Amino acid sequence: MDVPRHKRVILKLSGEALAGSKGYGIDPEVVYSIAVQIKEVVQLGVEVAIVVGGGNIWRGVAGSAKGMDRATADYMGMLATVINSLALQDALTKQNVDTRVQTAIEMREVAEPYIRRRAIRHLEKGRVVIFAAGTGNPYFSTDTTAALRAAEIEADVILMAKRVDGVYDSDPLKNADAKKFHKLSYIDLLNRGLGVMDSTATSLCMDNRIPLVVFNLNESGNIKKAVMGEEVGTYVGGDIIGASTTG
Ligand code: UDP
Repeated sequence: MDVPRHKRVILKLSGEALAGSKGYGIDPEVVYSIAVQIKEVVQLGVEVAIVVGGGNIWRGVAGSAKGMDRATADYMGMLATVINSLALQDALTKQNVDTRVQTAIEMREVAEPYIRRRAIRHLEKGRVVIFAAGTGNPYFSTDTTAALRAAEIEADVILMAKRVDGVYDSDPLKNADAKKFHKLSYIDLLNRGLGVMDSTATSLCMDNRIPLVVFNLNESGNIKKAVMGEEVGTYVGGDIIGASTTG
């Protein structure tokens, strides 16, 4: 049997990934299909932690643009990630995948509080751990949460699930000549302003040498490919010098 390249991974799902074609809310069928892909990877013996966003329900920046207090709007966003985490846990549980949700904002009736050593212990026991409520701080994103938790639990890689199959030099949906990067350095990601993650998250990954694989979640089997180390999407890492649009 092939051995997975990565032993412990953080899967970053945007809130929109759970929304399906409507673009908002939660589509249980979509969540179920993501859970099937995750189960495939867990069965390989890979330790899987998940950070899920909240953009399908609420984004703090959007609220503050309409006059809300930014911190309040951000706390609402963090609560949205808890809703998504519970939906994901439900779908994984239905797949018989043992799952724990840990929240950065305490709400013991619905989930465990985030305790780093406990999260690692769950992973070692083969449980999927979903990190909810972001970092627990306003003015941050769930991309930054993924970078922070990846550093804390010493994940081998962040698997960044997107709706496109990697990082392009311009929007492939608007520009037919857009070129896809196969490999990219973090500094290039920052300098070119490619918008894969926000700059706080990118810097955290760069400083802590956490590699990133950006791939299309809508192609079934891609999470497994990324975990196995097969060529999928775009690889971003500290070991890459410059940017390459060829394999
Ligand atoms: N958020 C926050 N602190 C965090 C993580 C998230 O304040 O550490 C808030 C922020 O308002 C953000 C919202 O939660 O807009 C949803 O997260 P994000 O936008 O990262 O979700 P995604 O784009 O991945 O769906």
